[in-house]
Amino acid sequence: MSTPISDDSQLDVAVVGGSIAGCTAAIRFRQLGHRVAVFDKKTMDDRFYKRLCTHFIQPHAVPVLAELGLAHLYEADYSVPTKAVFVTPGGLVEGPGNYLPGDQDLFALNLERRVLDPALRTAAREQGVEFADGTSVEKIEEDDFGWSLHTRDETGSRVFRARLVVAADGRRSRLAKELGNPAESRPNERAALFGYFSGITTRPDRRSVFIMNERDLACVYPLVDGRTQLVLFAEKSRVEGWGSTEGRLPQFLEYFDSLPDAPSMGDAVLEDGLLGYSDYPSQIRQAVAGSIPFVGDAALSLDPMSGVGCGFALVSADLLARSFTGRSLDKTGLVAGLAEYRQQLEEVLLPHAEGICVDSLVDKNAASRLRMFKTISANPDLSQQYLALTGRMLLPGEFQRLLMRAMMTRRTAPLKL
Ligand SMILES: Cc1cc2nc3c(=O)[nH]c(=O)nc-3n(C[C@H](O)[C@H](O)[C@H](O)COP(=O)(O)OP(=O)(O)OC[C@H]3O[C@@H](n4cnc5c(N)ncnc54)[C@H](O)[C@@H]3O)c2cc1C
Repeated sequence: MSTPISDDSQLDVAVVGGSIAGCTAAIRFRQLGHRVAVFDKKTMDDRFYKRLCTHFIQPHAVPVLAELGLAHLYEADYSVPTKAVFVTPGGLVEGPGNYLPGDQDLFALNLERRVLDPALRTAAREQGVEFADGTSVEKIEEDDFGWSLHTRDETGSRVFRARLVVAADGRRSRLAKELGNPAESRPNERAALFGYFSGITTRPDRRSVFIMNERDLACVYPLVDGRTQLVLFAEKSRVEGWGSTEGRLPQFLEYFDSLPDAPSMGDAVLEDGLLGYSDYPSQIRQAVAGSIPFVGDAALSLDPMSGVGCGFALVSADLLARSFTGRSLDKTGLVAGLAEYRQQLEEVLLPHAEGICVDSLVDKNAASRLRMFKTISANPDLSQQYLALTGRMLLPGEFQRLLMRAMMTRRTAPLKL
């Protein structure tokens, strides 16, 4: 997999982390004409991919794939273009037509990481990004001319020089520790359990169904080849009682079968084991520490129930490179580019974090939740706007305004006698 870094002369951009955020940043900086190398500590053969991910890509992020040269991933051999449907306590929230009026082509994607991750690395290599896997970045040091990266691979240690270093090294970011960019941690009161199945009949319109059951969320994702992914984000106490990993399958299937809006589990066959986690707090870091930008999970690693991490990795890395369009990587260009990136992240992605962190808590006022979803479900425009919010195409503040207006109108509507 590794394409040895050709010479020891200075890199323009060194990206630490070769997953979604890292490959995206690398490709976008390469497209701006820079010499770019990606370092990843894991050894990645052509089929390597991240397993702990349920790979629903929200519609706001899908266009970034085309900019990376990966538009073919929208095709039926690779993914399922889809749209969310929510089964809520107040009724169905389907949202007619497209995600937003006028956005004809915007859809979410069920794009499995076994497909996406190798495709990103191939696109990076084909566009001239140098790629060193099995190479851990252990320390970075700044001087007047840029950065020194101290790396280690199986042959020993090596130092690289770069003008700009991008931290795309995930939620446990080593660079964040080095640079003193601690994560603000927010609790997540749900555990997750998921698996891949055959033998489940999903909706003919290929929509992905999100069923709110008490304070759990059960998700049904159609995948390529007629397969289905089932994901359950459940109150921790519920799944704790389900026993060992192997023993959980019957309870998991019974849970889905008990939901009136889920497909039948009668013929469901699990492909591999169930995966999941018991605790996954959200983590938020500064977008820029010193002169190092953080992208993807290294900056914002939010409750997976929101299904935003892959999209935020794509979009944050894209925003970073866009902030450097028309700028050089000298001191003046770096200061301006990093300031623009910080501002963009704060405007485009950060407003979503607060609502997601609030949703991670299970103890919410059931009556006001019911009232809210009744209002949304009864109003086709608001339903569409709710889907646009969850697809991260509408800011929470804007949705709140529309919701408040609809709730007031509902309250003042004349009574039917
Ligand atoms: C159960 C679960 C379900 C999820 N479902 C969804 C979903 O449906 N939709 C969605 O959008 N998101 C989902 N996510 C979130 C998504 O998986 C992540 O947000 C996404 O993978 C983040 O990508 P990244 O590139 O920022 O970081 P990562 O994928 O974590 O990559 C970081 C990379 O940095 C490398 N690295 C770390 N340290 C070093 C170092 N010192 N030197 C060199 N390399 C280093 C690592 O090896 C790794 O490859 C889910 C997450 C979980 C846990």
